[in-house]
Amino acid sequence: MMFGSPLLSGLSSFAPGQSGDSIGASVSEVINPSTGVSLARLSMQSDLQVLQAIDLAKEGLRITRTTRRRGMMLARIAALLDEHRRELARIICVENGKPWREAEGEVDYASGFFRYYSEQMNRLKSRRLRAQPRSHQWTIHYRPSGVAGLIVPWNFPLAMLAKKLSAAIAAGAPCVIKPAPQTPLSTLALLPLLSSAKVPKEWAQVVIGDPGMIGRIFCEHPDVRTISFTGSTRVGKILLRQTTETVKRLTLELGGNAPLLVCADADVELAVEHLMQNKFRCAGQTCVCVNRVYVHESLQATLVQSLVQRASMLKVGDGMRDDVHLGPLINRQGFDKVAAHLSDALERGAQLQSGGMPHVTPGQSFGFYFPPTILSDVPQDALCVREETFGPMIPIVPFSTMEQAIEWSNASEFGLAAYVFTASISAADRLIRELQFGHVGLNSATGPTPEAPFGGMKQSGIGREGGIEGLMEFVETQVVARDLHNDMS
Ligand code: NAP
Repeated sequence: MMFGSPLLSGLSSFAPGQSGDSIGASVSEVINPSTGVSLARLSMQSDLQVLQAIDLAKEGLRITRTTRRRGMMLARIAALLDEHRRELARIICVENGKPWREAEGEVDYASGFFRYYSEQMNRLKSRRLRAQPRSHQWTIHYRPSGVAGLIVPWNFPLAMLAKKLSAAIAAGAPCVIKPAPQTPLSTLALLPLLSSAKVPKEWAQVVIGDPGMIGRIFCEHPDVRTISFTGSTRVGKILLRQTTETVKRLTLELGGNAPLLVCADADVELAVEHLMQNKFRCAGQTCVCVNRVYVHESLQATLVQSLVQRASMLKVGDGMRDDVHLGPLINRQGFDKVAAHLSDALERGAQLQSGGMPHVTPGQSFGFYFPPTILSDVPQDALCVREETFGPMIPIVPFSTMEQAIEWSNASEFGLAAYVFTASISAADRLIRELQFGHVGLNSATGPTPEAPFGGMKQSGIGREGGIEGLMEFVETQVVARDLHNDMS
């Protein structure tokens, strides 16, 4: 380790072999995407070590903790996240690039999942049916679903993990965690906090290594019963294919392409306010951020004017600086995608209203800053409308009828989040009914919350995170039907 943090000092005692400089072994280097500074060199684990982690997790299934104790663990983790909020935010900021204040918000969000599930443990208590069909007594138990493989992306490294891990600990399901190679440090920093909260070490181990190898082992290993994955639809499909023979539970939180609809009667200023809050978090690299704006043609000019004025006030730079609103994109690949979407839209006749293509050098490996970029009159067939851009670009597409806006919104294989701005209850009812998205904001572009289930329709995923539904992703329901005619001593 090179990056100094009190939370990253005693790692090797928690999950053997998962960290530290190594000579000869293959090494994963973590760099600060703002400055290019090397933060850590972590040894990559072999397939044997991943298998060992799964074996240890299997032993963890024998460690039983009452629902009350699991609830206490979760509440303690939440309190420890609150206590170490600043330091965790600093770690997220340097490994991901997002502004530190935003990273503090991510820590709060993560803490909220542990706290919420700590208050829901009574949902997992065994219950007996009042009815006794066939003269049997029917008892329902909620068992841990088995060893869980958790695969996490880099855009919300702590929060995306917290969603999964909080529900798994609540259920008593031991986890083997694979963080993204860009952002493993916040995951590793969580380990000592889990230890302080008395989470058995068998319940949360981290593996760092080749993603294909780890993914395949999770999919094929008979003892891994649940895989909870957040990331791209491309990788989600690989996991689906790899689990056909082993038939295991998959929770897939995949890509999005969120539309925001501004109807003819909408409050444009309100829509702009929400759009600004929603779009530029993590420099537009979030699954729920607005990817395309459909505005009634009568309002496009007003919307553009207001957006351009607000976007001009945003400062782009190193997220550790207090005055910065947007950090860099995570890497060259991310930058190239946004750049390609921008070029394509301009070629198809879109109007550049603010921002635009920044200069990068051929060998550049960090500091991929992209200014907030606003495009109007974007055609529906532009790449940035059809695909997830994952950057700070807002394509605005004017529409003339509500039917057209609904059709265009649904003309995507994704169905994660959508946002609707209208003053009419009946228009809202219709839009919400017809929009095929798992999360819909009404006169709001707010994202998910720990208390409510979140997940996608269509190719945006399977299953839910957050809410009681998210807890049940790590629970097997077992029913015992006992014949009341048969006396037992
Ligand atoms: P990604 O490329 O799919 O990577 C996600 C994770 O999967 C990383 O840890 C990655 O490791 C790993 N991975 C890659 N190949 C794998 C394989 N064959 N088997 C198992 N794991 C594998 O996605 P990303 O680019 O990091 O994240 C951005 C995507 O995530 C976007 O599409 C975004 O919309 C989506 N997302 C969805 C949600 C949601 O809640 N629905 C939330 C956040 C993000 P390596 O990096 O080592 O390859």
